[in-house]
Amino acid sequence: MQDTPEVVVLRLGHRPGRDERMTTHVGLTARALGADRVILAQEGASRADTIVDITDRFGGPFAVETTDEPMARLNNWDGPIVHLTMYGLPVQEVEGEIRDRHRGGEPLLVVVGAEKVAWDVYDAADWNVGVTNQPHSEVASLAVFLDRLFEGTELDREWDDAEREVVPQAEGKRVEERE
Ligand code: SAM
Repeated sequence: MQDTPEVVVLRLGHRPGRDERMTTHVGLTARALGADRVILAQEGASRADTIVDITDRFGGPFAVETTDEPMARLNNWDGPIVHLTMYGLPVQEVEGEIRDRHRGGEPLLVVVGAEKVAWDVYDAADWNVGVTNQPHSEVASLAVFLDRLFEGTELDREWDDAEREVVPQAEGKRVEERE
């Protein structure tokens, strides 16, 4: 978030047709839960405009990038790397050391896949992290991981330059337009 080193989400893989909403939701979840930037690899780039559009309407800062060379992004990353995978170490066992590195001043790259992830990614990661060791989804694992990383503080985040703002209601919907 704004006063901590950058947290960037790298979304690997994208199956056209099947992954349209998943890739969009990786970006929206990264934005809503405190990451600073998402990088969409290869065909996932097609979802960039939707994420930018939501950021324009509901606020930022949040950046969207695309890449045709995700492994280069991984290998050139100057900081620790977390890869979320059902095969990894339990998040509750490693979250403390990841948080310490991040709060110590190092930008964090968080990698999520779509289908089978190349072995090189497991090798490049400083931590392969499981949110349970059960198969589920990149959106769910990203949400839980970011919430653990930020210890819930991301829920109180303020947004800049929003065109519209949702005003929380016990019942019904209220959205205010901003100038
Ligand atoms: N066998 C794959 C794996 O390595 O987790 C499952 C692919 S799953 C459809 C797509 C993505 O969801 C994975 O690349 C991983 O990032 C994430 N994922 C699924 N289950 C997870 C879990 N239990 N913990 C962390 N990430 C998970």
